[in-house]
Amino acid sequence: MLTCTPLFSGSTGNSTHLSCDGEEFLIDVGVSCKAVCSALNALGSSIENIRGIFITHEHTDHIKGLEIISKKYNIPVYMNTSSAKYIYCTNGFDNLRRNLNILDPTQSLTTDNARFDVYKTPHDSWGSVCYRVTCGEERLGYATDIGYVTKGIASALLGCETVVIESNHDIEMLKNGPYPIYLQERILSKNGHLSNDDCARFLPYLAQSGARKIYLAHLSKENNHPNIALENAKRALGDYPETEIFVCKEKEFDF
Ligand SMILES: [Zn+2]
Ligand SMILES: [Zn+2]
Repeated sequence: MLTCTPLFSGSTGNSTHLSCDGEEFLIDVGVSCKAVCSALNALGSSIENIRGIFITHEHTDHIKGLEIISKKYNIPVYMNTSSAKYIYCTNGFDNLRRNLNILDPTQSLTTDNARFDVYKTPHDSWGSVCYRVTCGEERLGYATDIGYVTKGIASALLGCETVVIESNHDIEMLKNGPYPIYLQERILSKNGHLSNDDCARFLPYLAQSGARKIYLAHLSKENNHPNIALENAKRALGDYPETEIFVCKEKEFDF
């Protein structure tokens, strides 16, 4: 059985726990090692159970805990070449280098119970990917920090029963919010973040292709609200009542 639990989500840090027939993984570790360990304990698991950490890209809100986790625990880390180049150009990632494995777009990795397929995503980082995870007959698609839904992202997510997809901002809130113009333009660009509207436009295709659980992820604290993102998504999925929608919390567990 494939289970997915978003532990942390948003610009303050992202990390999602996956379990595939008991084999456990994390996608991103953008909070401290301590916070990741506490969240896993609250979930009833432990960092010692994690068999691999899959990184989407090298922004701090996705890799913050990586170096300390690598120092304390010997967990294989999978990352695309361009994000890894960032690591190699940056001092202070000495422990991570030991555990680093390259996994690039169009490649896949098979573990005991799961298969991870990697797809390139448009984002303003050195490298950026999304994942499609197959566990027996079940599939999960995971895509955040995406400027728009490319054909590659659609290939990764369509046909998955469970999908985690970015619903970053409400465009009007962003335009009228506190962010300076250059940052607004960065977020709105094709290499920025996915708006509620662009996310909602894609949701019926996901539902039509079999999505039964959709998690809205990486919500902006300043330029979005969980209720707005949820209502937008519900409206878009009006014809698909069998598809459940969840909004990822900034922090899933209190500890
Ligand atoms: Zn990012
Ligand atoms: Zn991010």
